[in-house]
Amino acid sequence: MPHRSVVVRQAWSGRLSRCASIVVMDVAIAPTIEDRPGLSGLAPDALVAWLAERGEPAYRARQIGDAVWGGTVVSIEHAAPLPVGLRQQLAEAFRFDTLAQTELRVTDGDLTEKALHRLGDGALIESVLMHYPARAGSRERYTLCISSQAGCAVGCPFCATGELGFGRDLQTAEIVDQVRSTTRRLVAEGRRLTNIVFMGMGEPLLNLDRVLEAIAALNDPRRFGLGARHITVSTSGVVPGIRRLTALGPQFTLAVSLHAARDPLRDVLVPLNRRWPVADVVAAARDHAGATGRRISYEVTMIAGVNDTAADAEAMVELLRGDHAHVNLIPMNPVAHTPWTASPMPVIERFAAMLRAAGIETTIRRNRGQEVGAACGQLAAEHAGEPPAPAVARRRARLVAESAAALLGERSHHPAPVGVGE
Ligand code: SAH
Ligand code: SF4
Repeated sequence: MPHRSVVVRQAWSGRLSRCASIVVMDVAIAPTIEDRPGLSGLAPDALVAWLAERGEPAYRARQIGDAVWGGTVVSIEHAAPLPVGLRQQLAEAFRFDTLAQTELRVTDGDLTEKALHRLGDGALIESVLMHYPARAGSRERYTLCISSQAGCAVGCPFCATGELGFGRDLQTAEIVDQVRSTTRRLVAEGRRLTNIVFMGMGEPLLNLDRVLEAIAALNDPRRFGLGARHITVSTSGVVPGIRRLTALGPQFTLAVSLHAARDPLRDVLVPLNRRWPVADVVAAARDHAGATGRRISYEVTMIAGVNDTAADAEAMVELLRGDHAHVNLIPMNPVAHTPWTASPMPVIERFAAMLRAAGIETTIRRNRGQEVGAACGQLAAEHAGEPPAPAVARRRARLVAESAAALLGERSHHPAPVGVGE
């Protein structure tokens, strides 16, 4: 489908955003509800079979692959080495790009680009490109954070995606097309993507089949060709998914969103904990580290007065002591409709010092892209509109009450969120 680019400068006045930003619209002309499969999601043998059915030689698959993954071709109609008739057949059977529309917001002095993508059925997802310039001891990096679902069923209350609820699973092509869209921009500037993290919208291990297909495409030297060690999958703690990954043995990095080491508090912060308690999550992660030899990353979003106390640090030390693990402490990004704010830096530093004193490797991370609605889900939430004020007030009061009860050691009586599978 042909694209046109519209570049608009505007002063952004969203709910949480105060920055002047550049908005670039990469619009597929005449977006309609689409059910043609995405070409980039087709496995290589399926593409060869499709070509064979039409009497086309197998080497056409490589030419199509170059067009799909090369980062310079914007539509299959422009894939020069292919015969015109085959281009037409491909265009009729497949979408070259499953992202019908992309809106970009740039911030952090151009170091962070946040993209809101509209899919063929109108669903909204987000991806974020973070540029880390070269420093002494580390090379320049371009890390892309991608989504695996539209919305999320887990419902973590500090997460904008969690508040949106579950929309649907992404198809393989919709996952990898976030990477292809960014690659097209980077290639045009003579740059390339160095890292991919599944830390956008959604819980990757609840869409694991499609996520594994996407990783296979991103990892395959004949397709995107990014080394597995440059790919990170983050989970809120889907134990059967972690165990399945361990059995498969892939070499990508597993990150676990821990947030709290004590069940009562983790029940509130990560409602999935009511189904798979924290000790089971860490046991599965430990087995994964043992089987793959890869260190587990634990992510902790630091929330003032909620999970940043000395008691929380002590509980985390008890849980992780002696593990092949690395803890990342990240100040909570401001999100609407929570009663919470980020822990102050001295509190985060004290927490880090307690973990390090117990021999647990710990890094304090800076959050990126705050002015454009930092953590994924916020741009989509703006489009969803503001919920009624009484509902927001009730949500805030419930979170205050639940976290206060958790701090006294009470486990949540709410059931686990629906739709998170077994
Ligand atoms: N669902 C997966 C992956 C997507 S969320 C998971 O939870 O791991 C990616 C990361 O962003 C998670 O570690 C999540 O806890 C974190 N996150 C979500 N909202 C945040 C916020 N407001 N501030 C900081 N981190 C946040
Ligand atoms: Fe879902 Fe991850 Fe957000 Fe929790 S933090 S609601 S698991 S996307």
